[in-house]
Amino acid sequence: MTALADILRRRIAATGPISVADYMRDCLLHPLHGYYTTRDPLGAAGDFTTAPEISQMFGELLGLALAQAWLDQGAPAPVVLAEPGPGRGTLMADMLRATRGVPGFHAALQVHLIEASPVLRAAQVLALSGHPVTWHDHLAELPQAPLFLVANEFFDALPVRQFVRRGGGWAERMVGLVDGALAFGLSNPAPLAALAHRLDDTAEGDVVETCPEGPPLMTGIAARIARHGGAALVIDYGGWRSLGDTLQALRGHDIDPPLAHPGHADLTAHVDFEPLAEAARDAGAAHAPLTPQGVFLESLGITARAQALARGLSGAQLNSHIAAHRRLTHPQEMGNLFKVLAVHPACAPPPPGIATTGAAA
Ligand code: SAH
Repeated sequence: MTALADILRRRIAATGPISVADYMRDCLLHPLHGYYTTRDPLGAAGDFTTAPEISQMFGELLGLALAQAWLDQGAPAPVVLAEPGPGRGTLMADMLRATRGVPGFHAALQVHLIEASPVLRAAQVLALSGHPVTWHDHLAELPQAPLFLVANEFFDALPVRQFVRRGGGWAERMVGLVDGALAFGLSNPAPLAALAHRLDDTAEGDVVETCPEGPPLMTGIAARIARHGGAALVIDYGGWRSLGDTLQALRGHDIDPPLAHPGHADLTAHVDFEPLAEAARDAGAAHAPLTPQGVFLESLGITARAQALARGLSGAQLNSHIAAHRRLTHPQEMGNLFKVLAVHPACAPPPPGIATTGAAA
C-alpha cells in the first residue's frame, strides 16, 4: 500500500467519503506524496508520452502559429508567452528555437511558466537555460499584457467530479472504504442546478463529469486576450459536452485501476471543451470550432517539415521519425483523439492552422 493510500484511508475513515475531484487532486499534487510533486512522469522510462516528447515538430509548428498570430495582430510589445503545465519544458524550448528568426518576436516576449511540480520545474530550468523565464504557481499571477499561450495536456490533469444520472437528479461518485480498502460509491441523488441542461441529453445511469477548476482558469486567460490581444491554443484529448466515465490511471504506459496506486499513477480525464469555450466567450474573447490535432498540424505544414527533417536521417532514426509523424497526425493515433481549442480576440482571426468554420464538436 502506498503512503498516500494510507493517508486517504485514515481521512475517509475519520470524516467520510471524498469526491473523485478531491481524490484526484491529492493523488496528483499532494505536497509530499503527489504524483507530479514527486517525479518526472514523462517519456519511455515514465508513465506516459506527450506530443512534444514524440517529436520536435509539434513545438516548432505551435511556436510558428503563435508567432504568426502575433504578427497578424501588429507585433505588439511587450507580450507574454505562457505555458501552464510545461512538463519537461520541451514544447517551450522547441517553440523558442523555431521562432528565433521571426523579426522582433523574441525581443518582445517574456516567457512565463505555470508549474506545480518542483521536479518538473527543475527539468524546465535545464531545458530553457539561456532564456529568461518567470515561474508561477497560478495562472492568475500572469501579468496583464497581450498573452500568447499554449497548454498541452494541462487541462486533462485538473480534477473532475463525476455524477450519475438518477431520475431528475444526480448522485455524485465518491471514494470511500469497503472492508478497509478504497472503493467507489455514490452519494444520495439530488437535483443540481449546474447540471440542469444535461437532463436533456442524458439517460438514467449516464455519467457526466465536471471540471470545477477549468472554466475559471480559462476566464483568466480569455479576459487577458480580449483586453490586451493575444491567442491561446489548448490541446487535449476530449470533446464537446462530456458523457461517460473518462477517469483514467496510467502506470508504466499501462492502464491501471484509478484507485490501485494513489500517488504512483497518472490520473487524467477527458477535457470537456464546451464549458471552456463558454468561459472564453463570457470573458469577451472569441473561439474557433474545435480542430482535430491531425488537421491542425497538417494545415501548418507538418508533412513538409517532416520531409525536410527526414533528409538528414537514415535507418532506425528515420523509421522512428516517420512513426512520430504518423503518431501525431493519423486519425487512428493522436490525430482525432486530440483536439485544439483556439481562443482569440473577437477583432482578430484565430492562429493559422485553425479551421474557422464547421461544427462545434
Ligand atoms: N505539457 C507537457 C506536460 C503535460 S503533463 C507536455 O505536453 O509534455 C501535465 C503538466 O501539468 C505537468 O507539468 C504537471 O506538473 C502540470 N500540472 C498539473 N496540475 C497542475 C496545476 N494544478 N497547476 C500547475 N501545473 C500543473
